Amino acid sequence: MEHRAYSRRKFIRNTAVATAAAGFTLPSFGAPAFLTGKQKKVGIALVGLGYYSTDLLAPALQETTTAYLAGIVTGTPSKEEIWMEKYGIPRKNVYNYENFDSIADNPDIDIVYVVLPNSMHKEYTIRAANAGKHVICEKPMALNAAECWEMIDACKENGVQLSIGYRMQFEPYTQEVMRLGQDRVFGNVLQVTAGAAFRNSGQDHWKLKKAMGGGAMMDMGVYSLQAARYVTGEEPVEVNARSYVTRPQYFKEVEEVMLFDLVFPSGTIASLSTGFHANLNFLKVACEQGWFELEPFQAYRGIKGRSSKGEFQFPDINQQAAQMDEVAQCILEGKPMRVPGEEGLKDMIVVDQIYDCAAKEKC
Ligand code: NAD
Repeated sequence: MEHRAYSRRKFIRNTAVATAAAGFTLPSFGAPAFLTGKQKKVGIALVGLGYYSTDLLAPALQETTTAYLAGIVTGTPSKEEIWMEKYGIPRKNVYNYENFDSIADNPDIDIVYVVLPNSMHKEYTIRAANAGKHVICEKPMALNAAECWEMIDACKENGVQLSIGYRMQFEPYTQEVMRLGQDRVFGNVLQVTAGAAFRNSGQDHWKLKKAMGGGAMMDMGVYSLQAARYVTGEEPVEVNARSYVTRPQYFKEVEEVMLFDLVFPSGTIASLSTGFHANLNFLKVACEQGWFELEPFQAYRGIKGRSSKGEFQFPDINQQAAQMDEVAQCILEGKPMRVPGEEGLKDMIVVDQIYDCAAKEKC
């Protein structure tokens, strides 16, 4: 095949990807005990009240119909009163990181939503699972694939569901490009090109710290990676990657930019980029008999797209509300998740290879 000519190629261990795929077998979930009462809504507790919880998830939980904001977990006491008052959260549903495990005794909380720095995802997912709570964990799922396996195992052992916060998979334009690509509506997918990046000049944030799970690949890169995976419906067999820092005064520990290419089993080439260097938000797909694209493709609102046959027309939804309502509904009905832990694991298998490749002179 032509892609053998790549000078910096990395073969993904097929066994690892195949094993991840096999992990899709979920335990069957019966009707949950909390359904036996009169409760109709599923209670979510947000863990970590930073930007995403404050600006997106809590407001979205005012629009949900199946899920509601039942509790909070925070290490900042001054936030407790503010959130209790703003969202009508009772004191008994407010936790800190020390007494978090006692959430096991709280029947109001059905789902723990982990919205912490990436290095804390594994610990809080496992603690939530051990407390018998279903878990939504933000992206990227963890620091590496090995951590993802531990999280998946902990949820299975405790008989709870695990979903990853890939909001785009609940969004109609995104679902359309998944359909067009996976069903080969325009024939074989030949080339995917995507960019997910923003200009970040923050100087003292955990996203700039390696040990906290920082770096552009971890933060925005998973959107480009996800796009290539959900458009093709395949797992890559080859990875090339190179990282860059253009502003060493900010990026002392992590990559500012990651450029990466993937090769998929059907022959699709994906040329993907991410970074904290520039604003990029596009997805373009070239197929044998046409093309389709989204721009923006990973914004919170206002996704737009078209194909070689014309403009797409879908509703502009609240992605986070749709995501949390669907997760809640799956829990009520005992159905598997649209975006289970295995989906986060599959990304992290590739992310591990991307970092590995970028660190080497040749890969
Ligand atoms: P943030 O820094 O704004 O918030 C993190 C929260 O964790 C803060 O409340 C902070 O107080 C708390 N925290 C607890 N221990 C901490 C520690 N040791 N160091 C730093 N903070 C600590 O981050 P964020 O942007 O809200 O991101 C949180 C998670 O949500 C990340 O995993 C991120 O990737 C994800 N996220 C997802 C989306 C999305 O669209 N799905 C968007 C933004 C962020």
